[in-house]
Amino acid sequence: MSSHSQHPESDIALRVKAIESLLIEKGIINPATIDVIIDAYEHCIGPHNGARIVARAWVDPDFKQRLLTDGTSAIAELGLAGFSSEHMVVVENTPEVHNLIVCTLCSCYPWAILGLPPTWYKSFAYRSRAVIDPRGVLGEFGLEIPDHVEVRVWDSNADLRYLVLPERPLGTETMTEATLTSLVTRNAMIGTAKVQVPTPPAELVA
Ligand code: FE
Repeated sequence: MSSHSQHPESDIALRVKAIESLLIEKGIINPATIDVIIDAYEHCIGPHNGARIVARAWVDPDFKQRLLTDGTSAIAELGLAGFSSEHMVVVENTPEVHNLIVCTLCSCYPWAILGLPPTWYKSFAYRSRAVIDPRGVLGEFGLEIPDHVEVRVWDSNADLRYLVLPERPLGTETMTEATLTSLVTRNAMIGTAKVQVPTPPAELVA
C-alpha cells in the first residue's frame, strides 16, 4: 500500500509493497480498488463515527432509546453500517453500571464505527484478563471503578459487535453536538476510559 511517510520504510511496509506489486502485476487486484479501500480507512472508517453516534444519543433522547433498543437500525439512521458493524448492540454506562467490550476469541470489533482495533485489544493479555479481572484491567488503564458500580463484560463475536455508550460528563450541558462529538474517545466506546471534559472547555479552545 502507498506510504505517506518521509521515514525509512519498515520491513513490513516493504513486504506489503512487494506483495501489492506482485498482485497488481498478476491482475489479481486493481490499484484503483486499493485506493478506495485506503481512502475509506483514512477518511470514512474510524472512531469519529462512533463519537457521532454517542453525541447524538446524548442530545436526542428518542435516538438514544432507539440506539439502546436496536443499535443496528439506529446506527444505520446516521448512514453508518457495514465493515463488521452489521449487527450492533449498544450498552449504556450509568452511575451504577460500567460496561467493557472484549473479544475473548480473537479481535472482533466494529470497524465502521471504531476503525481498526488497537493492538492491546488484540493482545492475549487483554482478551483473557478482561473477563477474569475486569476491574484490574480497568485499573491499568487508569480507570478505578468504585465497588458499588457493577462491571459488565461483553464478548464480541463474528456476528455481534458491541459499542459502549459512555456517560455524558457533567459540565457539558451547553455544548453543541459537534463539540460533544470531539470529546468522545475510542477507549470510552470500548469501556477502558470515561469521557473527560478538557480544561479549559473545548468550546473556548475551538
Ligand atoms: Fe474476534
